[in-house]
Amino acid sequence: MLKVAKFGGSSMADAGQYKKIRDILLSDPTRRVVVVSAAGKRDKNDHKITDLLYLCHAHTQYGVDCTGVFEMITSRYLEIRDELNIQLDLETEFAALKKRLDAKSVTQDELVSRGEYFSAKLMAAYLGFQFIDAVEWVKFNLDGTVDQETSYEALRKLVILGKGAVIPGFYGLMPDGHIRTFTRGGSDITGALAAAALNADVYENWTDVSGILMADPRIVDDPQAIPEVTYDELRELSYSGAQVLHEGTIFPVREKNIPLNIRNTNAPEDNGTMIKEKFDTPCDPDRFITGITGKKDFTIISLSKRGMANQVGVLRKVLTVLERHKISVDYVPNGIDNVSVVMSTEDVAPYLYTILGEIQQEVEPDTLDVHDQIAVVAAVGRRMAFRPGVSGRLFAALGEAGINIRMINQGPDELNIIFGVDNRDFKAAIRVLYNSFVK
Ligand code: ASP
Repeated sequence: MLKVAKFGGSSMADAGQYKKIRDILLSDPTRRVVVVSAAGKRDKNDHKITDLLYLCHAHTQYGVDCTGVFEMITSRYLEIRDELNIQLDLETEFAALKKRLDAKSVTQDELVSRGEYFSAKLMAAYLGFQFIDAVEWVKFNLDGTVDQETSYEALRKLVILGKGAVIPGFYGLMPDGHIRTFTRGGSDITGALAAAALNADVYENWTDVSGILMADPRIVDDPQAIPEVTYDELRELSYSGAQVLHEGTIFPVREKNIPLNIRNTNAPEDNGTMIKEKFDTPCDPDRFITGITGKKDFTIISLSKRGMANQVGVLRKVLTVLERHKISVDYVPNGIDNVSVVMSTEDVAPYLYTILGEIQQEVEPDTLDVHDQIAVVAAVGRRMAFRPGVSGRLFAALGEAGINIRMINQGPDELNIIFGVDNRDFKAAIRVLYNSFVK
């Protein structure tokens, strides 16, 4: 049994967090491979080390001395080291880096990668684990994608499994020997690659919330975490607006069918959210909504034409007009002699009148209407498909709350029920669903 555990910036922010991580690892000896982020914020007004490193690089680019910012960075690491009594010489490396920085001989990617590098060095020394640098195994192709097979192979050769290893996240090596970073938040990807390389039984992603929440905490008070979610549901949730993991993160572990467990470093007793391809038995069979999410600011173009049901090509003509303007259509709810297309207002607004003119000319509808300020709300749940009456209950609850539904759509896989409401009813609709189906 092997678990790869990735700890994000807030889990690495200070000495107290390092201690929590050690306890988490000691409580389960199968957590033998650890991937770490750079130190994050200790409180709301603090700075992330990665942000400071970007700032430092920008300073030197414009010929401004960055000594002050550089010292803020190094002192964070020295504080952690000294508070935990870790025997590690960091000063020599800091001095060498500063020298190269002043000489402008460090690329931006290399400089910002040092946040995770120093985190991993410190954590490895603290735990007595092996330090494995990301440049030794995360290999990029020239186009910036990861050469998975080469990388996996390299990591497998480096890991001494009995010992425990700490790996810095966020960066790897280009074929020309330069360091390259992933996009922001990319330590998640390193963790997933390590889990895939080592065929881990679980990839644990430790952060500061107890899993993916069932609804946005800015809308619903203290929402519950989702105990179990499939990758398909997760895709629905993130498409419809929930802030969940980056697609690149999921891909390496999904490909190998490795479960992904989101956990809270500050509440390790919580089970967090387990993400898998499928679950054989639901953890709570009465819970048929997995999550509720949504986005504001959609536009609906609706048209009707008598006899449309018997005409060929009307929908195609409408979609062709939109394609011409490179508008991606999100939903196409339709009736017998009418059809609507739903898309993001931001995308369509600049061309709206041209588009309406073209539809008028090419389709000659009897009516053509536009509604904007529409919010889309999605109730996502794999168990909805086998439940008669779910949508009835859902719309009844909204009706009782006086929320007018402007559009209804359900995907063919019955993984979601999507409906449109006025922007101003957005939060109320999410609260009504949460209160009637979760609470
Ligand atoms: N430290 C990097 C960032 O802030 C990468 C990460 O933490 O995942 O984006």
